[in-house]
Amino acid sequence: MRSVVTRNKVIAEFVSKVLKAFSQNRTGPSIDDILYTERLKCAFCRGTGMNGKYVKCSVCGGSGHNEVRRPTLTCAYCRGNGRDMGGLTCPVCRGRGVVSVTEPVQRCPRCGGIGRNRTGRLYCLNCEGKGVVSARDSK
Ligand SMILES: [Zn+2]
Ligand SMILES: [Zn+2]
Ligand SMILES: [Zn+2]
Repeated sequence: MRSVVTRNKVIAEFVSKVLKAFSQNRTGPSIDDILYTERLKCAFCRGTGMNGKYVKCSVCGGSGHNEVRRPTLTCAYCRGNGRDMGGLTCPVCRGRGVVSVTEPVQRCPRCGGIGRNRTGRLYCLNCEGKGVVSARDSK
């Protein structure tokens, strides 16, 4: 009985230590990152977790969901499908269907918000296919 109590105490101390280190580590994921992370249905496999019948979805690792940092926007390049025109993983959102942005944002002046360059085949390099750019950077 005593050993169980000791063990629980050790675990509790360990958890509090980890949480403390986690909240103090500014370069790594912070508590804010957890709060601002959204669990979204995987666009690539539409939440099934499978790519085809027998292969696990490589985007979400088979879970059917992806963790995405908020605020998020629907990916302009694939319009949220998670796939490019060839049916492969969208290079902009990596198959998630959404992209993380840093507010404030404005419509990309080069592509007009469609996230594609003039040929329509490649993603717009100015906004990296997101269709929006940081409103701060342009000033
Ligand atoms: Zn998936
Ligand atoms: Zn995309
Ligand atoms: Zn653009």
